[in-house]
Amino acid sequence: MSLAFAAEKQLAVSAVRRACNLTSSVFNRLVKSETVVKNDKSPVTVADFSAQAVISSMLGKAFPGDPIVGEEDSADLRLESGKELLDRIVALSNEALTADLGLGENADWGIGPGNNRTAEEIMDAIDRGNYAGGKTGRMWTIDPIDGTKGFLRGEQYAVCLSLIVDASVQLGVIGCPNLPIDAASPNSPKGCIFVAVRGQGAQQMALSGADPRPISIPAFSMDQLNFLESVESAHASHSFHDLVARNLALKAPPTRMDSQAKYCALARGDGGVYIRMLTSSSYKEKIWDHAPGSVLVEEAGGVISDFNGKPLDFGAGRSLGDNFGILATGKDVYPKVLEAVQRALSERKANI
Ligand code: AMP
Ligand code: MG
Repeated sequence: MSLAFAAEKQLAVSAVRRACNLTSSVFNRLVKSETVVKNDKSPVTVADFSAQAVISSMLGKAFPGDPIVGEEDSADLRLESGKELLDRIVALSNEALTADLGLGENADWGIGPGNNRTAEEIMDAIDRGNYAGGKTGRMWTIDPIDGTKGFLRGEQYAVCLSLIVDASVQLGVIGCPNLPIDAASPNSPKGCIFVAVRGQGAQQMALSGADPRPISIPAFSMDQLNFLESVESAHASHSFHDLVARNLALKAPPTRMDSQAKYCALARGDGGVYIRMLTSSSYKEKIWDHAPGSVLVEEAGGVISDFNGKPLDFGAGRSLGDNFGILATGKDVYPKVLEAVQRALSERKANI
């Protein structure tokens, strides 16, 4: 008997790998070569749309009945002004879809030489990501480039895919093209894929699919514990995180990193706590920014909740439900960290 979600896992790893190769190649051709001027967002736009097209095309072929919650839609590409952008996206998507089959890949997913799609098919694939989400049934989430700022800086970003069934994340796959395989040797080869299936543990493998190995969150002493937080202070409140760190008397400074690579770093013990305090009361966290990371952390032996200790609600639509703040860490230290977060919240309230 095969394990639950074996087919979904195999396809998801392949789709994320192909999308990672695509985004790396866009970075090398456009960003690194400096053919674009500083602050030009076009490489990220091209890579974002193409990566979603590749993943969504493969999902559409393998699981045609499954809806998808994706970050992008093709409205801009259907305008006359979007023609040039569309041509580049079609070329890049087809390059990724038609690459030779690698480890564990299957020609039935519409990949490999000769599987070119038309522009219309590419736009339809992107638009398959327009599902509104909800409490029941199967749905996938795609974040084609999570951490766009990190991507442009040549730092961390992630290609993220998850399968949610009845509001519970069952499978998460996160590709991190710039993350060293071994955090202890920053010069070790870069490029990892992290995979978790609910009830089956968490693992890391090389981007090629080689060297899969189980990962888990180690026990941290309070002396070693450190925070993993966003680079962007507009996405998460560094000053609130500092307050929590003071309450815990942490000695180690926070590690700042873009994207869900933070969840991957936590799951393999590079850092001790994922913490994310909103900076604006009007922003709602998106499910594609946390679904893959949440199952990865749980399967690596950790706990994830909001700042009230409530589980994240992935069944409320494209945004998280009624959750405030995000905290993920190992089981042993979680109660202590949650208590410090709640103390910081009351202290902050008292000071307003
Ligand atoms: P990070 O790299 O952890 O800062 O997360 C990147 C993600 O933050 C992006 O994919 C966005 O969806 C999300 N984001 C954008 N604006 C905000 C905001 N104001 N607050 C929190 N997250 C945001
Ligand atoms: Mg994102």
